[in-house]
Amino acid sequence: MKDAKKRPLLDHFRVAAALLVLVIHTSPLAAWTAAGDFWLARIFARLAVPFFFMTSGYFLAQNNWRSIGHALKKSGVLYAVSILLYLPLNLHAGQLGSLPDILRRLFADGTFYHLWYFPAILLGMVLAWRLSRLGAVPAFAIAGILYLAGLGGDSYYGLAAEVPALKTFYAFVFQIASYTRNGLFFAPVFFLIGAAGRQWSRRVSWAGFLLSLTAMSAEGFWLRRLDVSRHDSMYLFLPLCMAFLFSLLLSGNQGEDRTARRFSVLLFILHPWCIAVARTLAARTLGEAVADNGLFQFCAALGMTVFAWKLLAYWEPPRSNARAWREIDAAALARNAAVLQAALPKGCALMAVLKANAYGHGAIPAARCLRKAGVRAFAVACLSEGIALRRAGIRGAILILGWTPPEDARQLRRWHLTQTVADAAHGRALSAQKQRLHVHLALDTGMNRLGVSAGDREAIAELYRLPGLRIDGVFSHLAVSDSLDPESEAYTAQQLQRFYQTVDWMRSAGLDPGSIHIQASYGLWNLPEQPCQYARTGIALYGVQSGGEEVRRKLDLRPVLSLRARVVHLQTLEAGETAGYGRAFRAERKTRLAVVSIGYADGLPRDLPQRGGEVLLHGRRCPMVGRMCMDQLFVDVTGAEAAPGDAATLLGCDGGEAITAEALAAQCGTITNELLSRLGPRLGLRFNPRRSNPPASNASNPLS
Ligand SMILES: *Cc1c(COP(=O)(O)O)cnc(C)c1O
Repeated sequence: MKDAKKRPLLDHFRVAAALLVLVIHTSPLAAWTAAGDFWLARIFARLAVPFFFMTSGYFLAQNNWRSIGHALKKSGVLYAVSILLYLPLNLHAGQLGSLPDILRRLFADGTFYHLWYFPAILLGMVLAWRLSRLGAVPAFAIAGILYLAGLGGDSYYGLAAEVPALKTFYAFVFQIASYTRNGLFFAPVFFLIGAAGRQWSRRVSWAGFLLSLTAMSAEGFWLRRLDVSRHDSMYLFLPLCMAFLFSLLLSGNQGEDRTARRFSVLLFILHPWCIAVARTLAARTLGEAVADNGLFQFCAALGMTVFAWKLLAYWEPPRSNARAWREIDAAALARNAAVLQAALPKGCALMAVLKANAYGHGAIPAARCLRKAGVRAFAVACLSEGIALRRAGIRGAILILGWTPPEDARQLRRWHLTQTVADAAHGRALSAQKQRLHVHLALDTGMNRLGVSAGDREAIAELYRLPGLRIDGVFSHLAVSDSLDPESEAYTAQQLQRFYQTVDWMRSAGLDPGSIHIQASYGLWNLPEQPCQYARTGIALYGVQSGGEEVRRKLDLRPVLSLRARVVHLQTLEAGETAGYGRAFRAERKTRLAVVSIGYADGLPRDLPQRGGEVLLHGRRCPMVGRMCMDQLFVDVTGAEAAPGDAATLLGCDGGEAITAEALAAQCGTITNELLSRLGPRLGLRFNPRRSNPPASNASNPLS
């Protein structure tokens, strides 16, 4: 059987769901068919909001609900913005009642008619998260009971209210919230179904969906005939219907479409404003009949949202990744962190080294991704790098590995950064700032770079006596741990011995070393397990080695970064014609030449074409030629497939071919650390494009 083509179905359905919400609020068929309108707006369109709850639950469960804080914050912010946006309409409608009324609107009903969604998602998310901790059976049992209770106050109200006790119960509920379609009764079950992420075969999903939709339609019309509904958000068959629909969408889902996601948020938030404006304008010009027509309102609101969308596009910063960009495979990064952590002994944690913009990978998104993967300790080179992470909301320990001016001690404290004491004088100067700083002591065991000499016990003891310094850790750095020749190994052994001897002496002298650490990536690859609390890994985390050296431990790490640039121009040169500065390229035969929009200012060595540099185009290797420019370079694409707009791969895979960082670094006569960390800030950063599932960081709001 041929595989159906996969698309970002979940994101596309968000737009459909937002349109269905618009249907609910406009009833576009009402002027023509009452039954048809009832089915569309009161039954079918009820799939919309549960879908948003489910996507939210689905993405939160992907990383075991770890991003729930972020998700709550994002929904909270959207709610706050929406409240402000609708305040004029509230005021216009005289909807600013008593304090209890305001509180009820704020925390249960939403301050405008569609905004009930936000209190519902906030509460529903927290409840579903707590419930999911109980295990699937109790969680679904409780959420199911809540849903049934909600049904009794919604489309089955007339039946439920015949029981006096229930009537009293609902009277109480309705004092707190106007409807039972809210975060307590309505939302949890959908969050949990989404979180379960159950997938049946396409055939079963389709059959299940159509059958349960039919059943739900029958239920809706039956209830309508009985005339017992107080509201029509909840049906008995709705959860079943949603489970099959979601399975259907999931099975064909791949990748993400942020544009669709953002448009759905805009449509959802803006549509009541659009309806109100369209209606008022139409009433003045086209008459009441048109103004009240649901189809008119639907089209007008959609048109206005599209217009607003286009307008907003002017404020959007231009996409920085159109000409040349880095693609970051977040799944690979998270996986590498897990592999490295698993390679460490118990009690030893990964300290992710994010200096130099995470070796060119983007420190902030990398830190976010790693935090979600469970990493709690980070290292950077300097103060500004540490502050940038904190500003982006990265929590956990952040150790500054390099020297920081003592005058900046206040900043260290303000941003809760841990500073390395570079030597005794640095320690004294930091202490003199009287700031109560958290520090790690660098011990020099043979690198002869930073650190108090491991043998200088007096200096170490003095640092412990300094006021205002809290020594949380002691570390050292290995000079030749990447080398397996006997002399290097002996040197590493000597460094290790000095380190542990000093630490032992400190312990015996009552100087608590705190967390100790000595391994970086090659220490992890080449040394046996160390009795340390941290391993500071940089290059290994990014899935590459510095060069092609042999290592003792094979770890299954995957490259995280790909580098691509656009073909922006093509031309054919006749034999003898030249191109570029210095006329460095001279066509020896008729040559098709592509200009690729990346250059040495983006971090490539200028002589790469002369060193045999290549790009991949449609899975084929094509040689760079001529002199590299600051922002562009030439590629000989004679006989190859190439068109303007094509993405050329400078690093990474394309088709069956790959250019590895190790190979490119060797070609450039350097190590991957240098090559990657020099990738310039002008390069766009595309986080996660290769993942089949959108990143969990976007779980925050199902509408986002
Ligand atoms: C850069 C650095 C590291 C990380 O090194 P990798 O080889 O990339 O893992 C660890 N410790 C110190 C002190 C560093 O400067």
